[in-house]
Amino acid sequence: MSRNAVVVGMGASGLFSSYLLAKKGWKVTVVGRGTPASAMSTGCIKGQIVNDGCIEEILKMARSNGMPMTGPGTGATNLGTRFDCTLLPVHSMFSDRMPNSITVLGIGGHPSLRPRLTASMLSGWAPKVDAMTADVEISPEMTLAATFRDEALSDRLVEVMKDAAGESILLPPMFTLHDYMRMGELERRCGRRLMEAVTPLGIPGQRFLEMLLSSAVSSGAVVWSGRKVTSIRTNGDRAVQVEVKGGLDSRRLDMDALLLATGGPLVDGTLLSTEGISDPFNTFQTINCPGIGGGYAHIGQRLRDRSGHEMKNAFGAGDCLCSERRSFGNGLATALDDAWMTVQAMEAL
Ligand SMILES: Cc1cc2nc3c(=O)[nH]c(=O)nc-3n(C[C@H](O)[C@H](O)[C@H](O)COP(=O)(O)OP(=O)(O)OC[C@H]3O[C@@H](n4cnc5c(N)ncnc54)[C@H](O)[C@@H]3O)c2cc1C
Repeated sequence: MSRNAVVVGMGASGLFSSYLLAKKGWKVTVVGRGTPASAMSTGCIKGQIVNDGCIEEILKMARSNGMPMTGPGTGATNLGTRFDCTLLPVHSMFSDRMPNSITVLGIGGHPSLRPRLTASMLSGWAPKVDAMTADVEISPEMTLAATFRDEALSDRLVEVMKDAAGESILLPPMFTLHDYMRMGELERRCGRRLMEAVTPLGIPGQRFLEMLLSSAVSSGAVVWSGRKVTSIRTNGDRAVQVEVKGGLDSRRLDMDALLLATGGPLVDGTLLSTEGISDPFNTFQTINCPGIGGGYAHIGQRLRDRSGHEMKNAFGAGDCLCSERRSFGNGLATALDDAWMTVQAMEAL
């Protein structure tokens, strides 16, 4: 008989663990609300992923969602600085051989990439770097992705890119997950290598999260978005039920295992209380160590109750955990690796 897991938080760690658990036959309900830090990231994974199995899963998921990833490698940010990554979408990585010439292409004054500024910062990367702006009118209500669904505008962009001096062109992020393969299509049509600037707070982070969400859903996880887990009921050393609220709806869910992936204080996961960190559910132990950072105390991925005893079926992953191998809130690599390790621990239940 399949076991029930409740996963709290729909950032990278919550969605990746939901995907893995559902694939292993668990009945998973993932509950989340608010914008996760994962959606604000660049969608490029910084930091080391320790588990090879985790890397394989990410690569498989990225391929099947039409946004292949590669790495380790270096991308260029929208400000023209280096961004070294463990894994990043293929169009964000400079090839092993640095190009001889790069054109930085802004799109109709869109603020996501200022070509002159970025080109001046990139000037050491290639013998020739120049800046160019595609004269395409972007309506303030339209995203770049929606703008370039228009065939005529896409054709115009291709013509502009054919005139670029650079053998490689650095563009602002333009395409959502659904349209990501259009980067390859534009590349073939203009005969230049196209690279997407690594950019936080925009399309790439949302696209990365969309990939995780779509994988979790296709593996069978049930998604309750826009809802918050407000309390957790325990019985001895087991978490047995959560209360979920959203709008006027309030429900209770029984479970065999609980996974907290609630992120850091920035996004309302653990709470900042005076100078420390506390558990909004009043159920688990948190620790705040200078130099290490703070979050839920845990043994492996298992949470501890408020008196420090190990819970049998309550686990954690991502920014909500306190861990000596990173500072608090240190990136997608840890969030995904934690999720992978948590699922191994849950399988042993
Ligand atoms: C601006 C910015 C840029 C970044 N850029 C990068 C980068 O380029 N590369 C990189 O590797 N890392 C980056 N990071 C760090 C990285 O995004 C985070 O470390 C990682 O995404 C954390 O993932 P998570 O799943 O632990 O938490 P989150 O992604 O924060 O997800 C937690 C979710 O749980 C929800 N939640 C909390 N409590 C509840 C509750 N009771 N009920 C329901 N839902 C709840 C929260 O609202 C949130 O949506 C960046 C972070 C920020 C803020």
